[in-house]
Amino acid sequence: PKRRQLSANEYVEGIVKGDITVLSQAVTLVESVRPEHQTLAQEVLEKCLPYTGNSIRVGISGVPGAGKSTSIDVFGLHVLEQYGGKLAVLAIDPSSERSKGSILGDKTRMEKLSIHPDSFIRPSPTAGSLGGVARKTRETIFLCEAAGFDKIFVETVGVGQSETAVHSMVDFFLLIQLAGTGDELQGIKRGIMEMADGIVINKADGNNIEKAKLAATHFRNALHLFPAPESGWLPQVLTYSGFYGIGIKEIWDMVYKYITFVKANGYFQHRRNEQSKFWMYETINEHLRDNFYNDDTIARILPKQEEEVLSGKVTSFSAARKLLDIYFGNMK
Ligand code: GDP
Repeated sequence: PKRRQLSANEYVEGIVKGDITVLSQAVTLVESVRPEHQTLAQEVLEKCLPYTGNSIRVGISGVPGAGKSTSIDVFGLHVLEQYGGKLAVLAIDPSSERSKGSILGDKTRMEKLSIHPDSFIRPSPTAGSLGGVARKTRETIFLCEAAGFDKIFVETVGVGQSETAVHSMVDFFLLIQLAGTGDELQGIKRGIMEMADGIVINKADGNNIEKAKLAATHFRNALHLFPAPESGWLPQVLTYSGFYGIGIKEIWDMVYKYITFVKANGYFQHRRNEQSKFWMYETINEHLRDNFYNDDTIARILPKQEEEVLSGKVTSFSAARKLLDIYFGNMK
């Protein structure tokens, strides 16, 4: 039978009560591309806003195979055991094939956490651009917080831009790395390392322990070359084994130490404010872009303009200018 559409107030009531079924439905609403769902979703979010913000948000990134799912399972159980509360695990996965099942979609990736009564695991939204996917994840963070989740993990695959998106919505950015053959620093982009508040080297077990320690030293040395972070916090580098559960406590002691530190010096709130601002502009940009490219007139004349640019008849700038003039002229 078709489910009756809840009203905004019914959503909010259910969410604030911590009803997981209603929370899941609200996340689905946020993810929906249908305009009437989007309008309702925005109303629900607005009404949830007073109940949000009381969590720590941690971004967790690493290349495929780094051990993210293994680690998040263990990290999640650790923080729930050590600090109580409730944990939501969300994801940003811009590659559509992966979102069809592997990243978090497959609950067996987080075996223990997925059956824990105080956890909520939600796969990455699928549709749309990275910006669109990321915005939905950020909105899901708010819904989860309103539902009483005071710990939020946001997972992403370490492939570049998705880290920036995750970084723009978390309080602490944790980068999972592996020890390589001594050239581990080459494969990792400087920009990503600069975003990290902590770098943790996984699989420090068995024959790999010494290599992991060496990699940690390399990362520490590399971090010293970066300008001092605005937070005043010097990113730490630790080694651990997600599989054998070694070094897990140290990682979370570090995260909580950071949170205490930045709450005291004001950076915690500052970073969240900057993120809110960023998402306001990001949403405006996305909306303008979508509207522009979906405009009938623009869609009709765009190919011709492109051709003229390619054949050297007009410059890129004047073609763009012309399209924009037409678009905004039609707006008036
Ligand atoms: P993801 O792709 O980043 O989510 O990585 P997974 O968690 O699926 O792990 C990839 C592979 O590395 C799996 O075969 C894991 O069993 C293995 N693995 C994960 N953590 C560890 C660890 O701490 N030590 C060792 N030796 N293997 C690990």
